[in-house]
Amino acid sequence: MTTATSVFPPLDARPLKETIVLFDVDETLTKARQVLPWIWTITPEMLELLSRLRHKCAIGYVGGSNFVKQQEQLGSSTVDSTTIFDSCFPENGLVAYRLGRPLSTNSFIQWLGENRYQDLQTFVWDILPKSDFLGSARSEFEAYDKIHNIRRDMVEALKKQFADFGLTFSIGGQISFDVFPTGWDKTYCLQHVAAEKEISGTDYKNIHFFGDKCFEGGNDYEIYSDSRTMGHSVDGPDNTMKQLKEIFNL
Ligand SMILES: [Mg+2]
Repeated sequence: MTTATSVFPPLDARPLKETIVLFDVDETLTKARQVLPWIWTITPEMLELLSRLRHKCAIGYVGGSNFVKQQEQLGSSTVDSTTIFDSCFPENGLVAYRLGRPLSTNSFIQWLGENRYQDLQTFVWDILPKSDFLGSARSEFEAYDKIHNIRRDMVEALKKQFADFGLTFSIGGQISFDVFPTGWDKTYCLQHVAAEKEISGTDYKNIHFFGDKCFEGGNDYEIYSDSRTMGHSVDGPDNTMKQLKEIFNL
């Protein structure tokens, strides 16, 4: 795989060196994952804009899903996605890459314990078939869910059932919902952002975040509304590009 890191100025040599811009993935940097991969892989236009932004300040992404999926969406067979961003935070930062190199990792099952994990899995499988949705395409489910609020009700049921598990449940990308230990929502990655001060001396005073699910219950809500960030709500990758151009004069 090729590496793009070397062509960018070091973090402390960028004009806005106290600024980092973090992005959600689904419906912020790319379309949400659908049947056809060429719809949900990052566009050349977005890559070009991110490259221009990266010459001004640090950039990173934070997504709920795992790195394999994000590599499929943001990278390609010849480009390692960790070279496109200064910071990559799969699984909300449980896994982290800095300048292409892995930092710490943690495990959800390890944290929760195998028995509790099984309880959770059984409950989810139990409540899933109660929906009478018969479609198969992701977009069909998304439309169905907007009317019938399947995910909202599931999230509510999970919150009730597992109130003592210390978990946060939220509506995820196009068809998913997210489950994380409380505090392991997207704000979890901010500890890595703060740690940059100890690593390189770079103190990120301005942390921008762009996401599409910034409403209460959405998986961007916590980081979007966190006092440490400046939140920007978008309604798709085109809108992200529009706002980036305006805010950063790109
Ligand atoms: Mg999203």
